[in-house]
Amino acid sequence: MHQHVSDAPNKTVKGWERFPRLFRYLIRTRFSHHVVHHRRTFKQDHITQFRSEAEREALDLELATHGAHGEIIRRSNYAVRLHGSGSLVFVAPLLPAIPLAAMLLGSAGVVGVCLTLALPPLFSQFIHPYLHMPHERAVREAPSITAWLLKRTYFRAMARNHYMHHRYVASNFNLVLGADHLRRRYRAPSAADLAEMQRLGLRID
Ligand SMILES: [Zn+2]
Ligand SMILES: [Zn+2]
Repeated sequence: MHQHVSDAPNKTVKGWERFPRLFRYLIRTRFSHHVVHHRRTFKQDHITQFRSEAEREALDLELATHGAHGEIIRRSNYAVRLHGSGSLVFVAPLLPAIPLAAMLLGSAGVVGVCLTLALPPLFSQFIHPYLHMPHERAVREAPSITAWLLKRTYFRAMARNHYMHHRYVASNFNLVLGADHLRRRYRAPSAADLAEMQRLGLRID
């Protein structure tokens, strides 16, 4: 969903826009994630959401023309957290896996599948905002449990993987590690990428 909806190529969006009612939620999800989160914010670098107050105000003015959806985007701190219909689009495609697991794996399987399927939305909501901060600041500002997680190897690797997604939008879509390898969308950071991460205050160890 992240690759084919949230970061859908312009050509795909042109196709959706021919049927705006039918594809309304896909168009909105792609706008808030790809246009606002990837393009209109974090222009300077991965850890600077706006270069100036004027830049934020210009985006606010544009979002005001998007009615209720614009307001939802603003309230999600410009699509840094899950929000509105975006969260539905995020979670809905995962739901058919639950009855499937019940049929094939029984009740223990359902518990396992639910826990696993909860990870992408949970990470997007509670971890993603801190991936756009230097490590020291993230650890300082996050609630204590989140801060403890952010210091672990897994979450330090997640921060690097997410840096790579913003740097090269066609790869490294997943916050859950390993999923990009399975989907052959993993791009390893180069020495230059690692140097830039270090300059921004991300942990590269
Ligand atoms: Zn993206
Ligand atoms: Zn991001």
